[in-house]
Formats: sequence, structure tokens, C-alpha cells
Amino acid sequence: MPDPSPSHALPTFVDLWSSTLSWQPSPQQQEQFERLYQEILTGNRILNLTRITEPEAFWEKHLWDSLCGIQPLLASPDASLRMIDIGTGGGFPGIPAAIALPQSSLTLLDATQKKVRFLQDLAITLSLPHVTGVSDRAEALGHHPSHRASYDWALLRAVAAAPVCAEYALPLLKLNGTAILYRGQWTPAEADALNRALEILGGRLIATTPITTPLSQSQHHYLYILKIAPTPERFPRAIGVPKQRPL
Ligand code: SAM
Repeated sequence: MPDPSPSHALPTFVDLWSSTLSWQPSPQQQEQFERLYQEILTGNRILNLTRITEPEAFWEKHLWDSLCGIQPLLASPDASLRMIDIGTGGGFPGIPAAIALPQSSLTLLDATQKKVRFLQDLAITLSLPHVTGVSDRAEALGHHPSHRASYDWALLRAVAAAPVCAEYALPLLKLNGTAILYRGQWTPAEADALNRALEILGGRLIATTPITTPLSQSQHHYLYILKIAPTPERFPRAIGVPKQRPL
């Protein structure tokens, strides 16, 4: 166990949560965030989970950012949704989302098996029985009958260029499901490339929300993509192809 010295305690920022997201963690959720932080610091000793380890940066870049993207869902935390975090890495944005939305089921997908094993143990430690880890490639899972067209929401942060993320996410979404892409800067050229891919995949970009982060004042963009038509069976293409030859 790490030594939770005062300099490594996670800030609570109760007022910032409510002023920026109109949401506040319960005492139990605050404890889960703190435990998540300590477990990530411990896991980082053997796994490359994150370079963001300072308490305030962890709060902003991992907790706050994860929940800012799902802000439309925070107003109805009792809804029972099926969600997937594609390329979850150290569990972001999926684990904070699972803490905030305890009634929803959440699949954490990553190609790296040892990260997924760590996350499965972490879900037990944090008492998150609604979280499942899957070690696979998004290109493969998108053709799996128990995953294809079966999620209400897909979350993707720092995984690939937007058209590649769309090819990973759309096949996994139900009709009328939504993918949330967490981006930093966002340009009209990127929007054009994404829209071209969405025409092929059966999606529509319905909102692009620019946000200035509360501590470091960085620019983030959250993209909301609605699945408006079934994705053709040939997508996602074979492993590696979406990245090598984006739509
Ligand atoms: N989403 C996390 C975050 O924002 O902190 C992790 C981002 S990390 C830069 C990208 C992760 O996506 C890696 O853990 C990698 O294994 C995973 N990944 C990339 N391509 C993938 C694919 N095609 N299928 C599944 N996982 C993938």
C-alpha cells in the first residue's frame, strides 16, 4: 500500500464539482475516488497506467474530465444503461463514470491484458460489481454477437483519431446509442474527416461541446455522436486497418 501522506491525499473540490458540473460526489463516491487514486499510484509501480499522479492534476485530468464528458448522464444517475469504455487504459473515463453511475453496467475494454486484469481487481476493491473488464481489440469485439449493437453509450478518450474512434464505437452501439469522444483541441478539418466517416458508419455528430478545464484552464472538446442507422457488417475492418487506413 502507498503511504497516503497529506501531500498525496486527493482534493475534494466540493464547490468546483457543483459549480462546473452541477453534480457532487456522495461521501461514499468521494471515498471511492480517494481509493481509486491510491490504487492507481500503487499499480503505477508495476504497470504504465498514467503519468498524471499529482493530486490536483489527477483530480482534474482523470476524475473531473471523465465526468465532464458524461455530464448529460449525471442528471439521471438511476438510469440503467449499458456502457463501454473503449481503450480504457488505466480505467479512464470508465471507472469514474462507473462510480458516478452505479445503476449502469460498464465494460472496460483494452487490448492490453495486464491492464484489464488490474482493472478487474480494482473494480472489486472499489465495490463496483457492475464493472466488467474485457481484454480484446475493438475491431474484434465489434463483430462479437454479445457485444455488437448492444451498448447505449460508448466512451473513448486518447485512443486514436476521431474517424478511427468512430469505426471502433459505432458497430458496438445500439441504434440511437451515443458515442462520446473526449478530445483536446478540435479543428474544422477534423470535423470534416469525422463527418465523412460517420456517413459510412451510420452516425451523426450531434454536439461538440468546448470546455475550459477548471484548474489548468485547458481547452477540451466533448463530441457526441448519435447512431442513426445500422453500421454495415463489414465494419470494423480487420485489426489494425482502421488506424492504417482511416475512413
Ligand atoms: N482512455 C485512457 C485514458 O484516457 O487515460 C487510456 C488512453 S491510452 C493512450 C490508449 C489505450 O487504448 C491503450 O491502453 C491501448 O491499449 C488502447 N487501445 C488502442 N487501440 C485499441 C484497440 N483497437 N482496441 C482496444 N484497445 C485499444
